[in-house]
Amino acid sequence: MPKGPKAPKTWYATSALFSLAVGTFYLAGALPFIDAGILAAQFTIFGRPATFGPLIATIVTATAVCLVYALVRRTGRNPSPLRRQGDAVRHRQTMMNGAVDNSSDGILLLDEIGVVVDANPAAKQMLGAGARDDGAQTLVGRHIGSLIPDATALMAHPDSGAAPVPGIRRREMVAQRLDESTFPVEITMRELSNDGGTWQIAYVRDITDRKAHHEALEHQALHDALTGLPNRTLLYERMHDCRRRARRTGDRFAVLVVDLNRFKEINDTLGHHIGDLVLQQIASRLTKLLRSSDMIARLGGDEFAILLSPVLDRFAVTNLSERLKTALDAPLLCKGLTLDVNASVGAAIFPDDGTDMTELIQKADVAMYVAKNAGLPMAFYDEDQDHHSARHLTLMSLTGELGRAIEREELELHYQPKISIPTNEVIGVESLVRWRHPVYGFVPADEFVAVAEHTGLIHNLTEWALRSSFEQCARWRAAGIDLTLSVNLSAKTLQDNDLPQLIENLLDGYGVEPKRLILEFTEGAITADTERCRANIVRLAEYGLKISIDDFGTGYSSLACLKALPVHELKIDTSFVRDMVDDEDHQTIVRSTIDLAHNLGLTASAEGVESVETLALLAVMGCDTAQGYYIGMPLPVSDFEDWLRARQAPTEVPRPVACIS
Ligand code: C2E
Ligand code: CA
Ligand code: CA
Repeated sequence: MPKGPKAPKTWYATSALFSLAVGTFYLAGALPFIDAGILAAQFTIFGRPATFGPLIATIVTATAVCLVYALVRRTGRNPSPLRRQGDAVRHRQTMMNGAVDNSSDGILLLDEIGVVVDANPAAKQMLGAGARDDGAQTLVGRHIGSLIPDATALMAHPDSGAAPVPGIRRREMVAQRLDESTFPVEITMRELSNDGGTWQIAYVRDITDRKAHHEALEHQALHDALTGLPNRTLLYERMHDCRRRARRTGDRFAVLVVDLNRFKEINDTLGHHIGDLVLQQIASRLTKLLRSSDMIARLGGDEFAILLSPVLDRFAVTNLSERLKTALDAPLLCKGLTLDVNASVGAAIFPDDGTDMTELIQKADVAMYVAKNAGLPMAFYDEDQDHHSARHLTLMSLTGELGRAIEREELELHYQPKISIPTNEVIGVESLVRWRHPVYGFVPADEFVAVAEHTGLIHNLTEWALRSSFEQCARWRAAGIDLTLSVNLSAKTLQDNDLPQLIENLLDGYGVEPKRLILEFTEGAITADTERCRANIVRLAEYGLKISIDDFGTGYSSLACLKALPVHELKIDTSFVRDMVDDEDHQTIVRSTIDLAHNLGLTASAEGVESVETLALLAVMGCDTAQGYYIGMPLPVSDFEDWLRARQAPTEVPRPVACIS
């Protein structure tokens, strides 16, 4: 740079201040080319740059430019709150669009008269619009009524201006795809108003799966799983429908209860699997006989009910029952086995036999029993034949309670003594079940045992009776009371494969010696010609238990059968013993039974001894043991123990015990 005259100090100071001011001015935004202008003016006036101000200003300006640039960039990254808010709104909008686009529910934006303005992809797919949603395949421009006809009910009517009924903005409806196929939907309608007007948004959910699931559950609740037939609940529903219609039209309808004969035998001897196949085949055969207005239901076990609606008269019912018999008479083929199954049918007609649904079924049930007992294929309900119906119906209604009676301790065992006739000593006791119902009071044993056999509850009852008897036997043994215990077992139980094992387990469990026990089976049960029955008796006898044939003389056991089975005792039935003193025929039966027993090496026991004369006559005939009211009534355990103590006291003379059991 050339040397010039020296400038005074104040000039330099002024120049520096000026330069700073200019620099500040530049900082504030003056353009750099003004520097160039000042430099040029200084050269012109002074022949050299008079000050370094412009130079400094240029540097400051460049720095300022850099600063401003950096500032601008920084501001770009950290926008102002306003700008930030705007961005967030835009961001949310994008996310919201994404959510709408990805929703599994269809969303339709409708204008105020219900025309589709926009639709999300789910709505397009659901309603069968093309992926691009254009041309003929588009949803846009269609009225909601053409897609979901009933949806208009959820909208405000633009003409009337009426608002939709409140509270019904969500409904299940049927939607129609563009190819006109239909499917169930749940639609929810919302109204949206803004400056652009009023819009409706329809949220559409495809509920095909939900409906199918619901229907499956409903089907399950109303149908029998094994046969697929309607169950009792559905039958009652249909009967109520029939009654409503019949009251309007004056029609009649009939209820038939169909009970298979010998089914239990099939189940017991061939197994439940074959039993199930039999039920399925029967169900299918019966279904084929009916009109579309009729119904067949499975009531449970081997019992079916047929509802014939309408029926003209009894003749029409008889006609069907004959076809039913023909259908069932043809042998069933199951797993290579040919099985014969037939049924007993009972019928009751509305309104002739009753107007209450439960009553009608019960009356058809009573008629079925009448048919079964008479060996007929079919019987109509007949009040004259229904002597026992009130009692029977009560018992049937008690059936459900019998299962719970055990837990509620409504059942108890009573004990009836058994004496040795020659020694007059008490040698044993028979346990007899008692049910005191809290409402109905005393229910006779043979009646509810029969009901239990019919319903399958007999297994629970048997197990309970065996357990309680064995427990008592063990207690007496521990108390030094040395008696044999006779337990009654139902005929059905003897068909049970598990019976010997159950008894063995209980004997082991209670530590009872098998020789102390006598199992009483009725004559019919023991002579049933099944291999299983025989095998069970043999196994129980081998285990050391004694077998007694109860009610002997009422069945048809052959000598060969008696010889073939390991039986220990014949128990002569009460009906022959009770009046034998006055009835010579019965006397003959009792005498020959005692002889038969002795000839076969068995013990002869008489039950139903109600008088000292009877006991004396039995002694003359050589009968071994006796039971009966004259000797001792069946008593609850503590009463029995009192009775026993009194009888065994040295001064005691045997006399009847007046006690109601
Ligand atoms: P059952 O085994 O022949 O029992 C004898 C029945 O005759 C008993 O009736 C008994 O109370 C009654 N009896 C006893 N002595 C006399 C008498 O001197 N005169 C008359 N007229 N009757 C007498 P209960 O207890 O009502 O039993 C009836 C039937 O119920 C029994 O006949 C038996 O088949 C069945 N039963 C009783 N308890 C059980 C049980 O625990 N299990 C099974 N499966 N059946 C049982
Ligand atoms: Ca008995
Ligand atoms: Ca008996």
